[in-house]
Amino acid sequence: MDDVCSECGTRVIPMADGRCPSCMRPFVGKEFDPIAERVALEKRRRQAESASTAKRAAGNKQVRWGVLLIVVGLGATAFSYMAADTPAGGGKVIVFYGAVLVGILQVFRGLSR
Ligand SMILES: [Zn+2]
Repeated sequence: MDDVCSECGTRVIPMADGRCPSCMRPFVGKEFDPIAERVALEKRRRQAESASTAKRAAGNKQVRWGVLLIVVGLGATAFSYMAADTPAGGGKVIVFYGAVLVGILQVFRGLSR
């Protein structure tokens, strides 16, 4: 016998302690309704979809920040290189590899999402 949980709409066999194995709430069974189940499935599918869209948006944001860090790091390094030719620069070139490395890391993390 399988009933539909009135809490989460999943077709389940209640656990020994009378709870729904899917949502862990006290099981209150109702007659199996194929339309209600399809609606519940569709709702869950849409929730999963919007979650993955949000994840992708966050990944894209991370990639943009990473690229920005790389550009700023390289730009600052180039500026330092040019400034090193002037007397004030003292012939020292500061390489902003920290920003570039973090930027590259961000890009890869963003892409792997
Ligand atoms: Zn349930």
